[in-house]
Amino acid sequence: MISFVFSLNCLIFITFIFIFYFSKRRVNNIENKLYSYLLTVNFLGLIIDVIGYGFLNMFSTTSVINVIISHLYLLYYFSWGYILTLYVYSISFNAVDDKNHLKNYKLIWLFYSIIAFILIILPISITFEDNYAYSEGIGVQLVYLLMLLFVIFDIFAIFKNFKKIHLKKYFPVFMLLIFSLIAMIIQSLYPAITLLLTCHSIVTFLMYFTIENPDVVMIEQLNIAREQAEKANNAKTEFLSNMSHEIRTPLNAIDGFSQLILEENDIKVIKDEARDIMAASQNLLEIVNGILDISKIEANKLEIVNVEYEPSKIFDELMKLTKARIGEKPLELRVNIAKDIPDYLNGDYVRLKQIVLNLLTNAVKYTKAGYIEFNVNTVKKDDICRLIISVKDTGIGIKKDNIDKLFTKFERLELEKNITIEGTGLGLAITKKLVELMKGTIVVDSVYGKGSTFTVAIDQKIVNKVKMAEVKKSEPPKKKLNVKGKKVLIVDDNLINLKVAARLLLAYGITAETVASGQECLDNIQNGHEYDLIFMDDMMPKMSGVETFKKLQENSEFNTPVVALTANAIAGMKENYLKVGFQDYISKPIEKKELERVLKEYLK
Ligand code: ADP
Repeated sequence: MISFVFSLNCLIFITFIFIFYFSKRRVNNIENKLYSYLLTVNFLGLIIDVIGYGFLNMFSTTSVINVIISHLYLLYYFSWGYILTLYVYSISFNAVDDKNHLKNYKLIWLFYSIIAFILIILPISITFEDNYAYSEGIGVQLVYLLMLLFVIFDIFAIFKNFKKIHLKKYFPVFMLLIFSLIAMIIQSLYPAITLLLTCHSIVTFLMYFTIENPDVVMIEQLNIAREQAEKANNAKTEFLSNMSHEIRTPLNAIDGFSQLILEENDIKVIKDEARDIMAASQNLLEIVNGILDISKIEANKLEIVNVEYEPSKIFDELMKLTKARIGEKPLELRVNIAKDIPDYLNGDYVRLKQIVLNLLTNAVKYTKAGYIEFNVNTVKKDDICRLIISVKDTGIGIKKDNIDKLFTKFERLELEKNITIEGTGLGLAITKKLVELMKGTIVVDSVYGKGSTFTVAIDQKIVNKVKMAEVKKSEPPKKKLNVKGKKVLIVDDNLINLKVAARLLLAYGITAETVASGQECLDNIQNGHEYDLIFMDDMMPKMSGVETFKKLQENSEFNTPVVALTANAIAGMKENYLKVGFQDYISKPIEKKELERVLKEYLK
């Protein structure tokens, strides 16, 4: 009776473990697999034990049912011992080199099946004595022998790789040995109390806490994170190699033509080559700006700045720019702008312009002859106006297979065919990201060899404001820039940059002085040199432009306007320089228009 109570208790807690274990998602490794077998066998063994106890009291010892149950007992003992041994083998040998040493599943199953079969067919006899029953026979002796061998093997496996196995993994095996010893002592004193199953159950229970079963969800998330990090790393490498290629192409042109100019005497040829250098520089600048845009978008730094604007003005400007890009090409520009576009909208017109200009520029680039059609339509609902803008061309068109690649950065299609057309493969990638940022859509419809249509739909807020009748002001006559004789100081550590800036200023009759460091600038001012304007680079060794500027400000008599002139053109830089106190900001390479604006403003 006492054994029955023990078994019943074990059945209860093993059932709980069984439910917990199988309801939890597990890592699919050999350790877990073996433990799940062990737990199942233990659970079934306890059921056999509990049921068997009832049957033993109901039927005679020779009844078929009790004989079957006795066979199942033997099968259970063998199975449990066998699985535990596989487990011990796996944890001790796998720990050595972190490989799975239990690969020959066929052999493992074959050995198990043969022994199980033998145990089933071997004769067994049940003896009933003083209120307890035990089985006898060759089958029972075989199981005892196997158990002994298993224990010897377990001890051997553990001691062989003792240092390499995690200490807590020995725990169940040691417990098994200790409990088995206690069970055997109790059984020899009180033969009615069989505790081997209870002992197994305790070991199975303990193993639940010692097997490594980390949180599967966490592992999956870690794996995803690792994959993403690897992907990002690959993308970065690809990006750098693409960037290097894209930048080297115009650089190669600049370098090549510069060398040719040095050897050329014919002024006409020299001018032609200089124009090529300018085109390559422009291309280089576009690449750098594109990369800045992409990096801003990818770093989530690009913000949509919504302001009030007049859409008709934006479209006018776009048409002017497109006409200029068409130049001498035999291309007709057809324009259909819906009449019902609101006078004022609220949105990011700078980015809207960038999106549409990119599509128009591509249409011009990839169309040899025919026309480009620019359509703007609207759909209005409440205070929202959906702008549906399409750019249609009769150009080279895009193959169906290539449509997916269109919006991938650095992806240029049919490069061999379009080798003479300048481009970076960044334009459409940026366009798409901008459209997404503005919560719009972009679609492409193209027939290869016939032409393409890009359609963008973007929602903008309607501003209800009555448009003032435009007073046609006669344009003020353009004032000629009269800055002759003015004195300007340029501070830059790069001698080429100094030369370029001085040369540009010379064209306006300005006397340009140059210094190559912040310290020289400070010395000049301290020695009483006077200037009408100072252009200051920022990134200089020893003393930066900002530091130099701050030192200049310490002199209360100093009141010369200082303009930041720097190649650091990432978003927000202009605002940063103005905040420091610089009067203005120009980015390198210097644009003529910008330079004239600054000269006009500060050299009155
Ligand atoms: P790119 O600087 O090369 O023009 P884009 O990202 O703007 O880069 O365009 C990617 C590629 O898509 C181009 O290289 C070109 O092959 C193709 N493409 C873009 N617009 C058109 C168009 N209107 N017609 C045909 N092909 C186009």
